[in-house]
Amino acid sequence: MQFKGKTAIITGSNSGIGLGVARSLAAQGADVVLNSFTDRPEDHALAADLGRAFGVEARYIAADLADPAAARSLVEKAGRCDILVNNAGIQHVAPVDQFPVDKWDRIIAINLSSAFHTAAIALPMMRSAGWGRIVNIASAHGLTASPFKSAYIAAKHGVVGLTKTIALETAEEPITCNAICPGYVLTPLVEAQIPDQMKVHGMDRETVIREVMLLRQPSREFATVEQLGGTTVFLCSDAAAQITGTTISVDGGWTAL
Ligand code: NAD
Repeated sequence: MQFKGKTAIITGSNSGIGLGVARSLAAQGADVVLNSFTDRPEDHALAADLGRAFGVEARYIAADLADPAAARSLVEKAGRCDILVNNAGIQHVAPVDQFPVDKWDRIIAINLSSAFHTAAIALPMMRSAGWGRIVNIASAHGLTASPFKSAYIAAKHGVVGLTKTIALETAEEPITCNAICPGYVLTPLVEAQIPDQMKVHGMDRETVIREVMLLRQPSREFATVEQLGGTTVFLCSDAAAQITGTTISVDGGWTAL
């Protein structure tokens, strides 16, 4: 229960990696604030269930992180932020000369700028509490590129740069800022793509995962949301107090290639 009494805000956490990270932090006693852009009864029920399961306070605060004011007010509404996990992200795939401008702007806003806005409000809270951890969920695409994902890759490289800058600005304080760079992670979104890929390639599940989806991931295994949760817990632990301004790849060897 190393995070008892601490509050963690996890952006984009009503599914996938964000929800997995929230569960891992709650399992260590953190009170958690879940977030996404929707404001449905099931979003609030998800937080209530998580709180009951781990015996912590869990709230859901809706905020569309494409909007700078909403990103800032998410942290203001939470009222306290000891651990900030910037996780919300979207993707769009198209060549640069055909990339829709509105998609570019939205990806930069959600995947990069929202992390600047939340950190700007969270840092004074961390300073007054005398402790803080920022964990940015970047990507293997924060360190390497692939064609047709220009906005996503620019945003994720930007997140890595923002991570280093915040780390330097807080270097003499008990605050750290790091980025996790996942390879392919088995989230519900990725799971849902498997049947289509099987059909398109005429392959069984194992073959399409190994030969198509995980072609660039040398381990030929997906990372899991539990592994990302565990890495986040580590970065927030006392053992990681001198780890700041860096990236940890959870990518089965992708960026070693
Ligand atoms: P996901 O779609 O399950 O989760 C994304 C979350 O962001 C959701 O909760 C979604 O509601 C939220 N979100 C989207 N737009 C938002 C907005 N405007 N305002 C607030 N919240 C918004 O996907 P995921 O795979 O869990 O991805 C989480 C993060 O991990 C993303 O930043 C993604 O780029 C990164 N990532 C994922 C993988 C992977 O293989 N799944 C690999 C590397 C990095």
